This record gives sequence, C-alpha cells and structure tokens, in this order.
Amino acid sequence: MRKKSGKEKGEEVTKSNLALLPSVSELLKQPQMAYYQTVIGQLLLIEVIRESINLKRQLFLLGNTKVLATTKEENIHNLMIEISRKVKEKQTVNLKRVINATGIVLHTNLGRAILPRKVQENIVQVTSGYTNLEYDIDKGQRGSRYDHLLTIIKELTGAEDALVVNNNAAAVLLVLDTLAKNKEVIVSRGELVEIGGSFRIPNVIQASGCILKEVGTTNKTHYYDFEEIATENTGAILKVHTSNYKIIGFSQMVESKKLANLAASKGIPYVEDLGSGLFIDLSPYGLSHEATVNETIRAGADIVTFSGDKILGGPQAGIIIGKKHYINQIKKNQLTRCLRVDKMVLGALEATFKLYQDEAVALNAIPTLKMLTTSLRTLEITAENWQAQLEKKKLPIEINLFPVRSQVGGGAYPGDSLKSIALQLIPSDMSVNHLEHAMRMQDIPIITRIKEESILLDVRTISEEDWNYIVDSLVAIFHREGDS
Ligand SMILES: *Cc1c(COP(=O)(O)O)cnc(C)c1O
Repeated sequence: MRKKSGKEKGEEVTKSNLALLPSVSELLKQPQMAYYQTVIGQLLLIEVIRESINLKRQLFLLGNTKVLATTKEENIHNLMIEISRKVKEKQTVNLKRVINATGIVLHTNLGRAILPRKVQENIVQVTSGYTNLEYDIDKGQRGSRYDHLLTIIKELTGAEDALVVNNNAAAVLLVLDTLAKNKEVIVSRGELVEIGGSFRIPNVIQASGCILKEVGTTNKTHYYDFEEIATENTGAILKVHTSNYKIIGFSQMVESKKLANLAASKGIPYVEDLGSGLFIDLSPYGLSHEATVNETIRAGADIVTFSGDKILGGPQAGIIIGKKHYINQIKKNQLTRCLRVDKMVLGALEATFKLYQDEAVALNAIPTLKMLTTSLRTLEITAENWQAQLEKKKLPIEINLFPVRSQVGGGAYPGDSLKSIALQLIPSDMSVNHLEHAMRMQDIPIITRIKEESILLDVRTISEEDWNYIVDSLVAIFHREGDS
C-alpha cells in the first residue's frame, strides 16, 4: 500500500491500517461480484470497486480513522455493502414504472395507456431477433412495414387502406400537408381545438402549408356554412373531435355523413381527426356515446386519424385510415419517412388490434378498457378487501372508503367522469404531505392525490400487484419512521 510520507500520525499505524483494505482483485473474488458483473459489466464494476476503496483510503488519510475496521474481513464486508448500493444506483434508469393511484385512466404525465400483457410479449418477440419488418416472406422480396397491419385494420374498421406514424398530431400534419397544401381547409369555429402540449388546430393547418377557412360560430355551425364556401379548389373539409371540451346548450355541429357527401360532390377529401379512436362504444358503461372509428368510416370519411395510446389502449402512434388513393398519396410524401414508426410500435399495435377481434377479450385484456368499464360495485368490493388487509398491519393511519370520480383523461370523454371509490389515508403521527412524499419516493413511485388533509388512492387505476407493493411500502415507511 502506498501512502504519503511525513504525516504527523505514526507512519506505521497508517501503513498497517491501510494494509487492511482489500485490493480490487481481492474484492472481485467475492461471490456476489459475478452477479454484479452481469448487471453493470466488468469495466463499470471495477470502476465502482476502485472508487469505493479510494474513498475509504482518502477519508482515512484525512484523519477519519473510523472508516477502516480492524480486520480485513470486516473491511471487505463494509465495502461490499457500499458496492452493492452503488451497483443498484448505476442500474436504475430515470424513466421507470410508477403506480398511478390518481384514478385518471389515461394520465398523460404518467404515460397514457398501459399496454396489455399480450402486447408487451409481442414487443419482446419482435425486438429480440431480426424481423420481417420490410420483407415479404411469401414472395421472398422487399415488403412494406405498413402492410403487416393492413389486414387487421381493414377487418376492424372497414377502411380501404392504412398508414401509421409517430402520433396523431403527426398524422393530422401529414394528411393536411399531402392533401391540401397551399389550399383552403374548412373547419367549424367550434372545433378549433387546442390539445395539451400546444397542439392547436389553426397552427397545425398553417404548419402544413394550408390556409385555414373558419366557418360557422363557436356554438353553431350549419351545413350551409360549409356549402357556401366549399369548391373544387378547396383542399379539404376537416372535422376535429372536441376531445377535451364540450359545448353544451344552444349548440349544433354538422354530421359527418353530410360533410362527407358535400366533399364527395365537390371531389375534395373529407378528413376527420377523431383524437381517441374508439373501436367499442362505451356508452353502456356510463360514458357518453361517441362515434367509433367504424361508424366514421361508414359515414363516408375519406381519411380518419386517431391516436394509438388513448382509448385504443395501445402504443403511442398516429393511425391514418381511409380511401386507398388518398393513402397512396400520403405514403409518397417525404414527411412520411420523417414520421415513421419503429418495429416496436408496429408490433405493439398489431397485437393490440388482434385483441379487438373479440370485443369481450378486448374489454378484459386491454387495461385501459378494463379500467374504464369496471363497475362501481366491483371497485367497492376490492376497496373493502384492501381496507381490511391494510388495517391488519396496525399502522398509525386511519383508513376510510371515500367516494370519488375517476377521470378518463388523455383528452377523451370531456365532461364525463366515472363513479369510483378511493381508500382514504389519514396518518396520525405524520403530516399528509410527508406521507405523500414518502410514497412518491419509493423504488416504484406511488403517485397519489391529496384531498381534505388526507391521501386518496383511487382503486380504479390500481392493480392487485400495485396494491401489494403499496402495502409493503406503507409498512416500510411507518417502521422507518417508528425507529427514528
Ligand atoms: C389527442 C389528440 C390529438 C393529438 O394526438 P397525439 O397522439 O397525442 O399526438 C390530435 N387531435 C385530437 C382531436 C386529439 O384528441
């Protein structure tokens, strides 16, 4: 062991103590190291070991003699604890799973839709080896990445053709840029929507090189408003789903079918931005009736766009479906290449669509749909069980059942909410803010809501697995507090 000479402390003491520090190679022989090496790799592991030894040496030389134990075994033991902690730290990623106890099903800040198990499995499948992404297996030649989804999308929607891009915002941009560049796009004044994250229809129309032609008023737009303005030179008639607000009272918009017919009579495209893109009517489950993708295609829309990760319950994507000659034009646009999706997304989307082949399967296997359609009675039974289970832990918390309303979120079903039930936690020897923070700081952060000096855990967005983790976390939080 090397050390600085000329210290006032007895040189011999320093030397002999430092000799009790293990070397890098001695530590590498420890049984746990093989595992750590598989986790962070040999190079990084050696760096971690070296760092840990050096830190102890430096602290010791600075006069902090307690950092070294009196035997080498003890020093090895202490260093291994330190190394284990550092390996865990190196391994943790920033973007990670969290538990959503807010009851907002499509929580944009928490990543919108949770993918179905089958979909997760398919992502692993298509990413763990080469794929036929752009290869036609039957013909043994180059294929198109968009063809894999074609059969299933046609089957589910009745559309002639389809294309998938990065997200629905990109889909709208691409459609307008292709079909209506330098031309007028007619939109009702009641549908000049702003979606969170500054997606504004007037700006998107401008960004696509089109000229916005507003018609009607905020609350009422009539068929004749469109009829007076639409000509053969119009770029497109666009209908935008008012996903995050509702105009109630004296209001009226024009039906899709009428606009589609008008557009057809002028030989111009009729485009609908559906936002969410529903495949199953959810009105039997306490939500308003909204047009499904299928209904919109049947009404005669030439192009329909919607998101993959809203009510559809799949990966982030923008799905463009409709008439073949329009989709062909869109495919040829240079922008399509800029907005194209990866095999992970295509694999996830195809697996999601497969689940829709059977409505009952979809409602059960797609977490978004399952959460939205679970009955209040079912949630209450779960809440009662969970309450009893948590009470058995005898933690210093009062636990009540608290009626709440869950939001759909993600810019879908504005004005609707679903009756739900929350577990209300009122800690007796800790502030509510402290508990909220402690829950958020768990390895899997638990995101809750604070209301009326208590913490609410909306049962609707919490899985059984999440719940077990919440219980363990609460036990750990209160034991740690109790010890200190
Ligand atoms: C959500 C939404 C968008 C944007 O979709 P993203 O997939 O989030 O890009 C566009 N238009 C409407 C009507 C929407 O509801």
